[in-house]
Amino acid sequence: QFPFGRRLPCDIYWHGVSFHDNDIFSGQVNKFPGMTEMVRKITLSRAVRTMQDLFPLEYNFYPRSWILPEEFPLFVDEVRMMKDSDPSWKPTFIVKPDGGCQGDGIYLIKDPSDIRLTGSSQSRPAVVQEYICKPLLVDKLKFDIRLYVLLKSLEPLEIYIAKDGLSRFCTEPYQEPTLKNLHQVFMHLTNYSLNIHSGNFIHSDNVNTGSKRTFSSILCRLSSRGADVKKLWSDIISLVIKTIIALTPELKVYYQSDIPAGKPGPTCFQILGFDILLMKNLKPMLLEVNANPSMRIEHEQELSPGVFENVPSPVDEEVKVAVIRDTLRLVDPQKKKRKDVQRHRESCQNKANIRSNYFVCCRSQTLEHVSEGKEEALEAGPADGEECEGSRGPEAGLPSLCLKQVFPKYAKQFNYLRLVDRVAALFIRFLGVKGTTKLGPTGFRTFIRNCKLSNSNFSMAAVDILYIDITRRWNSMGIDHKESGMCLQAFVEAFFCLAQKKYKSLPLHEQVASLIDFCEYHLAALDEKRLVCGRG
Ligand code: ADP
Repeated sequence: QFPFGRRLPCDIYWHGVSFHDNDIFSGQVNKFPGMTEMVRKITLSRAVRTMQDLFPLEYNFYPRSWILPEEFPLFVDEVRMMKDSDPSWKPTFIVKPDGGCQGDGIYLIKDPSDIRLTGSSQSRPAVVQEYICKPLLVDKLKFDIRLYVLLKSLEPLEIYIAKDGLSRFCTEPYQEPTLKNLHQVFMHLTNYSLNIHSGNFIHSDNVNTGSKRTFSSILCRLSSRGADVKKLWSDIISLVIKTIIALTPELKVYYQSDIPAGKPGPTCFQILGFDILLMKNLKPMLLEVNANPSMRIEHEQELSPGVFENVPSPVDEEVKVAVIRDTLRLVDPQKKKRKDVQRHRESCQNKANIRSNYFVCCRSQTLEHVSEGKEEALEAGPADGEECEGSRGPEAGLPSLCLKQVFPKYAKQFNYLRLVDRVAALFIRFLGVKGTTKLGPTGFRTFIRNCKLSNSNFSMAAVDILYIDITRRWNSMGIDHKESGMCLQAFVEAFFCLAQKKYKSLPLHEQVASLIDFCEYHLAALDEKRLVCGRG
């Protein structure tokens, strides 16, 4: 620990809360710039909504949400319309303050008019969300799942999911929400930090019982009831990958701003906590993503009234120790070095086979590393996408990895969803001065001109009006006043607008994909031309 700063550069920096260090020039940091902002309730809802606009069926794992206070009129209208079209629909909604955690400030309502918009709540933005009334129950109790996910790299995208997680239980038997029980937090909210204060909370040293259990113990139970656990895992993997795909475009904007390309800087990785609720029909629903999930392996026990003691929690220990251990194994800088050496050896060997005149040189380089050779040889052919060094490497004796790679392993199935990522790449290209996150009017004009999007139907004056209209509206939402200009979400909105204009008859995702292709084509042609001119 370096509470007063440090002198020597490190291999791995483990920050407690968020990415905040601007004087790291190498190594790896356990936080991505902007992640804390990205997983706030409002930002996450916005990012998922953009994806829901493009791919409504693929993104139906997130409850319908509205952002308060700005979307309050929309919320009222939409609920009224849905009730009119289906009078039997008796919804419940959950209101969650933005940036809140541990159930803080959360309440349930039956009608939009019950929202507490007055007083201090008004200044506190929030998300109001459809409440999932029919969760899966175990022992008559509602529970949620905390899964740990390692975002190992943003570019290229690399995602790992821990094989086991935690299930956190409510402490009052569940009943569907009624006006009478809406306020009963021990029945409706699964937060550990709330339920620990219930007299019914059960600390257990057994992973199968108590108010906090391993997810695998729940899966065993479900499997013995005949549930399709394989399908459930597959749905969870899909939910995690799709959620991260929704977050990556903006994360890349933050990344290039804090760690500009071409300058010395660290690489990042991050352990995220995914909170997932299972519906009665076993469909997983995303509740939230935690950028700084608790890694505590102890819990507080009240010895006598008001006197607490920290005691080990075997359930937390079983899940969390494996996550930290395997994260360190996967980002191990020594392993990277060993791999580079291995790659170097292989490339040398290939060259040697082809060009015998280089034989001596390559042989001497190979021999140089022969002492490390035994460890490297076993890296080949990682099973299931995991990077396993086998029984003779420095990891000999460690259990097999609990973190399983899901991306790029399943990239083929999900790459078609990464449209906003490509829009973000266009945005970043035109940001101009590195270190900014917002596009100025000149940058926007250059984007339009270079991509040949202006024509007799869409003059440069109309371009300026589009820029001003959208930028002003996004900036009035009070998200980030530090910089002026067009943020990524505003650019994405403008891009969707242009796509709709140009490719009227197609569905939105095809309109957007066509416009991206069009822009990328013109920019590649421009780059080519510049290259040729440069050579000339
Ligand atoms: P916090 O960050 O304050 O924990 P969450 O979004 O995780 O906020 O919500 C707290 C708890 O409320 C969840 O753990 C879950 O039990 C319950 N909850 C949240 N959203 C919903 C929902 N849409 N439907 C049903 N229960 C929900």
